[in-house]
Amino acid sequence: MAQLSADPARARRAAERSCGPCSACCTVLRVDELAKPAGRDCEHQRAEGGCGIHASRPAICRGYHCLWLQGGLDDDERPDRTGGIVDLEAVGAAVRLSIRELRPGAFDASPALQSIAERYRSQMPVRVTDTADLENPDRPFRVLLADDVEQRVAGERVEIYAGGVLRETKTLPWLERMARRVSIWRRERALRRIARGS
Ligand code: SF4
Ligand code: SF4
Repeated sequence: MAQLSADPARARRAAERSCGPCSACCTVLRVDELAKPAGRDCEHQRAEGGCGIHASRPAICRGYHCLWLQGGLDDDERPDRTGGIVDLEAVGAAVRLSIRELRPGAFDASPALQSIAERYRSQMPVRVTDTADLENPDRPFRVLLADDVEQRVAGERVEIYAGGVLRETKTLPWLERMARRVSIWRRERALRRIARGS
């Protein structure tokens, strides 16, 4: 759990780092103040990296620091190099590692992202999602677990693999699926309100 502890090396890395040419989160994150959905480029992104409205950027942009920027990943694991944004997320009382691909298929094409997942999956679930079709509650995602176990979820279907071999197929609990739909509905409603200026 070295990455979770407040070790001096991590603090030093965080102090030395800046985003540089990376603007991966400007594509991946949702920015309600700008009515920008997750997974689409922000209109203020600059081609060379950085933000065209840096001084007045919304609070979420100011507050967001991916795990790399926090010093939790190696120097060469910046999101624009690996192809995915990595965060530690609280899920109730637990923590999971979230890898959000900058484009579909990035995880499978990125030895760096796979290496990060391997470092964490024995300690916590590693959830891998892409940024395509984010408003689809049935969009697929993967959860990598200890002992080479992987769940692949698509809609209500859950496939469980061990050692790369399909071992079991289950149905996602109704309540969990409904919670995803409600969450997306709320998000869409909030974005519509912002777009209307109300
Ligand atoms: S993804 Fe991380 S390194 Fe890249 S711009 Fe966002 S905060 Fe900075
Ligand atoms: S406003 Fe600036 S920092 Fe925020 S998402 Fe857009 S380009 Fe990125």
